[in-house]
Amino acid sequence: MDWEIVVGLETHTQLLTESKIFSGASTAFGAEPNTQASAVDLALPGVLPVLNAKAVEFAVRLGLAIGATISPRSVFARKNYFYPDLPKGYQISQYELPVVQHGTLKIAVEGGEKTVRILRAHLEEDAGKSLHEDFKGLSGIDLNRAGTPLLEIVTEPDLRGAKEAVAYAKALHSLVRWIGICDGNMQEGSFRCDANVSVRRPGAPLGTRCEIKNLNSFRFMEQAIEYEARRQVELIEDGGTVVQETRLYDPDRNETRSMRSKEDAQDYRYFPDPDLLPLVINEAEIERIRALLPELPQAKRERFARDYGLAAYDAAQLTASRESADFFEDLVRASRAEPKTCANWQTGEFAAALNRDGLEVGHSPVGAEALGALLRRIADGTISGKIAKEVFEAMWRREAEGPGAADAIIEARGLEQISDTGAIEKMVDEVLAANARQVEDYRAGKEKAFNSLVGQVMKAAKGKANPGQVNAILKKKLGG
Ligand code: ADP
Ligand code: MG
Repeated sequence: MDWEIVVGLETHTQLLTESKIFSGASTAFGAEPNTQASAVDLALPGVLPVLNAKAVEFAVRLGLAIGATISPRSVFARKNYFYPDLPKGYQISQYELPVVQHGTLKIAVEGGEKTVRILRAHLEEDAGKSLHEDFKGLSGIDLNRAGTPLLEIVTEPDLRGAKEAVAYAKALHSLVRWIGICDGNMQEGSFRCDANVSVRRPGAPLGTRCEIKNLNSFRFMEQAIEYEARRQVELIEDGGTVVQETRLYDPDRNETRSMRSKEDAQDYRYFPDPDLLPLVINEAEIERIRALLPELPQAKRERFARDYGLAAYDAAQLTASRESADFFEDLVRASRAEPKTCANWQTGEFAAALNRDGLEVGHSPVGAEALGALLRRIADGTISGKIAKEVFEAMWRREAEGPGAADAIIEARGLEQISDTGAIEKMVDEVLAANARQVEDYRAGKEKAFNSLVGQVMKAAKGKANPGQVNAILKKKLGG
C-alpha cells in the first residue's frame, strides 16, 4: 500500500521597504556589519517602535492578491526567547490576530490546477545574524538585518509531495515579485521556506510532522522533502514512530538531521506588545491598495488563453513573470504576427537563449521590438523560419542592435529568401538533371526520393529558396 506525503509550508518573505519595520534604519543588503542598526534595532533603553506603513501596505497587497481576509484589527505580540542576535530578548511578531487570514493560491499540478489554502500571513521583524567566520573562539553579531520587515505566509497542510510543495513555493515566489513586495532573492535570504512534512496511508488522519528549517533553494526543498518523507516511511515500516521535531537539511549529504525535539521546544510566552497599538486597517485603505494592484498572474493567464487563443500551458509559461508577460504583449504588437507564432518564438528560441546565458527577460540583448521586426520578415516572406533562427542568433550576439537589427543582418549576410520563380526553376532543373536515379525512384512510387530532391535544391540555394515554391515547382516538373 502506498504512502501519501503531506506538506505545509511556512515562507518568510523580506518586504521591499527602504527602512525597517519599526525603525528608520536602511534595509539595503550587504553593508558593513552594524552600520544599519539604529537605537531601536539595538534595543537601547527608552526607545519605542514606530510601525512602517509601507510594510503594512505590502502585507495587505499580498492578502488581496490571494483573495484573503484583511483583518480590520490585528495585534503585534512579543515572542520571547534568548539568542545573541536578538537584542531585545523578544521578536515582535503577530500571533493570535494576524493581518491576513484565509487566502488561496492556485498552482499547476499534473493534470490540472490545485487550490492551496493559505491559513495566515503575519508581519514580524527579522533577527540579526551571528558571524562565525573571521572570529577565533568568538562569534560576531551583525544587527543590520535586525528589524527587517518579514511577512510570514503559512499554508494549510494541503500539499502532497515534494513536487507540489515546490510548485507552490515557485508560484508564491513569482507572486510576491509580481506585486512588488519582495525581491525574491533566495541567495540573500529574501525568500526562505520551512517545510513541515508528514506521511500517512491515504485516507488516514494526518501523521506526526517534522519541520525542516530554512530551505533557500527550490532544489534543496525538493530533495529535503523527499529525503524526509523516505526517512519517516522507513521508520514507520520498521515499527518505529515519528517524533515531532525540528530538522535541518544538509545539502552536501542530502539528508535531514535533528535540531531539537518538541520536548525541547521553547515556551515563547507570547503576549501583546504594550509598545504598539493594535493595527487598524479600514475599508477605504484596503480599497486604495486594491486599486493599485497590477493585473494578477491568474487573471493574466486566463486573459492570454482567451484573447490570444493560446493553450493553457503556453499562457502559463508566458505569464511566469510580469516581465515575460509584458514582453509577449509587446512582441504581438511589434510583430503583428499570430499570437501563437509569437508564443512559439518566445517560449522556444528566445527562452532557450535566455536560459543558455542565465539571463532574465529584462536583460535580454534582443528586445520585443527587435524580435517583432524579425517575425515580420518571416510573415512577409523575406526569410524562412529556418533562416530566421540564424538571424536571431546573430541578433543575440549583437551583430546589429535595435529595432532595425534583423533587416541589417539579413542585408549584410545576403539572407533574403529567393522567391523568384525563374531562379528556383533553374536550380530545380539542375538538380533533376544531376539526380536521374532519384527521379526514377520517385516515379516508381518512392516518396522519400522527393524529400531528398527538395533537400538538394535547398542546398543549392544555401537554404534561402522559398520552401513552398520549391515544393510546388518540383511537383510540377516531376509531373506529380
Ligand atoms: P508551528 O507554529 O509549530 O510551526 P503551526 O500549527 O503554525 O505550527 O503549523 C505550521 C505548519 O505546519 C503549517 O504550514 C501547517 O500546514 C503544517 N502542518 C500542520 N500539521 C501538519 C502535518 N500533520 N503534516 C504536515 N504539515 C503540517
Ligand atoms: Mg513552524
